[in-house]
Amino acid sequence: MTSPIYLIGARGCGKTTVGQALATALGYAFVDTDHHLQHVTQRSVAETVAAEGWQGFRLRESESLIAVSAPSTVVATGGGMVLAERNRHFMRQSGTVVYLNAGAGTLAARLQAFPHDAQRPTLTGRPIAEEIEQVLTERDALYQQTAHHVIDASHPPEKVVQQILDALSPARA
Ligand code: ADP
Ligand code: MG
Repeated sequence: MTSPIYLIGARGCGKTTVGQALATALGYAFVDTDHHLQHVTQRSVAETVAAEGWQGFRLRESESLIAVSAPSTVVATGGGMVLAERNRHFMRQSGTVVYLNAGAGTLAARLQAFPHDAQRPTLTGRPIAEEIEQVLTERDALYQQTAHHVIDASHPPEKVVQQILDALSPARA
């Protein structure tokens, strides 16, 4: 079982942090679709959105997903990756999809503690806690329906990694 593992969930749920640790634990490579996109465009996410709009950004995001997908790889995805049906389908059929599920309060606290990680432009222009609540309301069902495994991501990173390994182990034993 070496098909890719896709981590999905809202900004701040720990896709990058947990993904790197998970990759180390499994001896897998780690890639982040946002980093790939920034490398291709040589622009920050904010600059791409400013230049090409959210629609242009979403197109590039789909291309990045396909480009980084590889065996024995943990793929951290952008928070909006599940919005496009083709991305949901691609992830489900090419690998194992793990939803890092955390409540709006947890996400807001993390992003406020590390504002650098919240560099993406806001979707609504509203305060971050309100925006996270709204985005989660809109996307939770998509995260749930895309995931093979839903993991409680409010625990410390090591525990989240262990929960993922436990969820994956029946298929990998
Ligand atoms: P994502 O890639 O999903 O946007 P990150 O991995 O960048 O999330 O994490 C966002 C912030 O929250 C970072 O500052 C990170 O250190 C912190 N963080 C991530 N996962 C956890 C966790 N399980 N417990 C506590 N803090 C976390
Ligand atoms: Mg990330």
